[in-house]
Amino acid sequence: MTGRKKFIIPFTWLMVACATAACVYSAYHLPLARLDLSFIFLAVVTIAFGSRLTIQIPRAKVHISVTDSLIFLTLLVYGGEAAVLLAVVEACYASLRLRKKGVFIRLDGIFFNGALMALSIFLTAVAVETCFGPETGLVERTPSQFITALCVMALVQYVINSGLAAVYTACDTNESVWATWRAHYFPASATFVAGAAIAGLLVKITGAIGISSIITATPVIFIVYLTHRRYIDDIKTSSAQVELAERGRAELAERHVEQQQCYIVELERVKTELEESKEHFRHAAFHDALTGLPNRALLTDHLKLSIEMTRRRADHHFAVLFLDLDRFKNINDSLGHAAGDRLLVEIARRLELCLRPSDTVARLGGDEFAILLNGLDSTEDAIRVAERVQQDLMHPFYLSGNEVYTTASIGITISAAYYADPENVLRDADTAMYQAKEKGKTRYELFDTGMHARAVLRLQLENDLRRAIENREFEVYYQPIVALDTCRITGFEALVRWHHPERGFVSPAEFIPLAEETGLITEIGSWVLREACRQTRRWSLDDPALAMLTISVNLSSRQFMQPDLLAQIKQILDETNLNPRRLKLEITESAVMANAEAAASMLGQLRNLGIQTSIDDFGTGYSSLSYLHRFPIDTLKIDRSFVSRMSEGDENAEIVRTIITLATNLSMSVIAEGVETAEQHERLKELDCEYGQGYLFSRPVPAAAALALVQNNDYTSRVPDAMLARTLNPTFPDIDITHEEIS
Ligand code: C2E
Ligand code: CA
Ligand code: CA
Repeated sequence: MTGRKKFIIPFTWLMVACATAACVYSAYHLPLARLDLSFIFLAVVTIAFGSRLTIQIPRAKVHISVTDSLIFLTLLVYGGEAAVLLAVVEACYASLRLRKKGVFIRLDGIFFNGALMALSIFLTAVAVETCFGPETGLVERTPSQFITALCVMALVQYVINSGLAAVYTACDTNESVWATWRAHYFPASATFVAGAAIAGLLVKITGAIGISSIITATPVIFIVYLTHRRYIDDIKTSSAQVELAERGRAELAERHVEQQQCYIVELERVKTELEESKEHFRHAAFHDALTGLPNRALLTDHLKLSIEMTRRRADHHFAVLFLDLDRFKNINDSLGHAAGDRLLVEIARRLELCLRPSDTVARLGGDEFAILLNGLDSTEDAIRVAERVQQDLMHPFYLSGNEVYTTASIGITISAAYYADPENVLRDADTAMYQAKEKGKTRYELFDTGMHARAVLRLQLENDLRRAIENREFEVYYQPIVALDTCRITGFEALVRWHHPERGFVSPAEFIPLAEETGLITEIGSWVLREACRQTRRWSLDDPALAMLTISVNLSSRQFMQPDLLAQIKQILDETNLNPRRLKLEITESAVMANAEAAASMLGQLRNLGIQTSIDDFGTGYSSLSYLHRFPIDTLKIDRSFVSRMSEGDENAEIVRTIITLATNLSMSVIAEGVETAEQHERLKELDCEYGQGYLFSRPVPAAAALALVQNNDYTSRVPDAMLARTLNPTFPDIDITHEEIS
């Protein structure tokens, strides 16, 4: 036991002792003579119902205990002694009754309650008697004296009762007496005043009508009491219902809030999970696994935002750089795919370094990258970035001990009002990149709308080209190759022509590069070869005088690299029965130089078959002159550009002269291409150029017209008179025609 609690027992026993003394005194002085039947009735009612009955003043939180009123009544009618004894019995009985009903009341609590009632009533009676004389005589005093006496009675009873109870409770709860009294007993003052007032009223009524009448009227009073109780209960019920409804509503609202909170928590959880999976999805769905760069999907997303921004703000510009590595395949082929992958990763890091955080660099797949530049001031900004990227990529990469160099071709497109779809932006940048490749790689090209039209046309052309092979829309034209001194036709160059069903004639300069790129060239090429061989053989069958004519057929780089090229040619020669010595294959310098070893071997095998080879467009590609002698090549064809510019100045004539000298030194013959004027013809002869080809002699013509050309072979009108004497009896190269004759 701590603090005040230890005082609770001594305090209780002290109270009990004092109360016992008060009770003994009261019992001793009890005026037995005055205790009539009415007293017994009052005592029974007080003990039996007093504590059970409380009168509540409607809408006020004040309860008037019937006990208080009845004991005050006893005090006023039968004196303090009777009131003390009745109060003790009532208090003890009420406590025992509550305990029986299961309300926990300590034994010392029961004693305390009894003692409290005994002492407070005893002291009240003493106080009233001291102030106003015997209690039983109060009712006869003046109304003001009577009311004052009632007030004193109520006040003393209240102070003593609440004071002692507060001490007891304070000891029990270990709190201060004052705080306990203020919290629990201060509001009870009204109860005592009301109790005293009712007692006073009852005394006055009994005085007027007699106590026996009251006893008779008790059932009526009881009914009135029950009615009041019922009324109070109704009020309670309805207010309880209102309260319940309100509580129900509040509970409902609370439950709703709770549910909402649960829902919000759940949403938060789902959101976090979504974010996590989104993040995961982002390492997986929006990024390139190899380089970690954003992939096409993410770039498209960013592009969408850029397009949106440009639409809202006229001063916002963006650009897309489409970047494709040049000759990446070579690295993969020579160093292996692992090294190729490493290179792509290193390139990704370099690209990231040379860009601003607001830019996006993405890998689109393979060796293709795209860069989205935001907030540009001008087209020059994009060009500067493209140049910087190309510069940065030029520095060597170190891959497993190898120093690797790479370059890139870049296509650039700038934001424009007509861009609504990111795919179109990428497509245009891709088209511009393609142009950069076309124009020789390792450069950038800016997209213009013409490019798009050309790209669309290209796609259309590609489809048409596939169809053209099936539909046999091609025809071979023949352009004579003339011995410049005699003006005699020594052979023809086969040049393919495409008769497009809608577009009419399509230039080979337009479709051959496309055919080469799409691989369709192998089919077209072998068809031209077969057709040219067949035609040449046909001519010699028709006119044995033409049995010495050579046929030159162009071979694209791609055809030249075909592994079964030799077998294919052999088969065609077999099929057509053409002497291999009459066939000349024209290959460009770049096709030869691209893979010198393989080219040399191929050229050697062709020579072994008796087939001749020419280098086409000589002077325009990158031929290594020091290598040239290693290749078994028969003829150099001087590109038309040198011939046409010969007259412009000595410098161009010098180039032609150098090529002729070189060819002579290497024991190769020379054909000048694009001879258009008699003057050019004259100059070429002066330079000892053996053969020529050009509009001066004939444009490429269909087979029938070509035959007529040889049969007439009359170029006299275009050749100066002085030359005529020498051209009348041309000497054809000595050609072994046994192969054809056998057939
Ligand atoms: P190329 O092999 O250099 O053919 C010569 C081109 O020059 C031909 O153009 C011819 O018509 C043109 N030409 C000839 N003389 C003159 C002249 O005096 N002045 C001018 N301005 N041009 C002249 P064409 O037939 O349009 O062929 C263009 C190119 O297409 C050829 O250039 C060749 O590279 C390619 N080609 C043509 N047919 C075939 C083929 O069957 N297979 C392959 N792989 N390529 C072919
Ligand atoms: Ca040619
Ligand atoms: Ca040529």
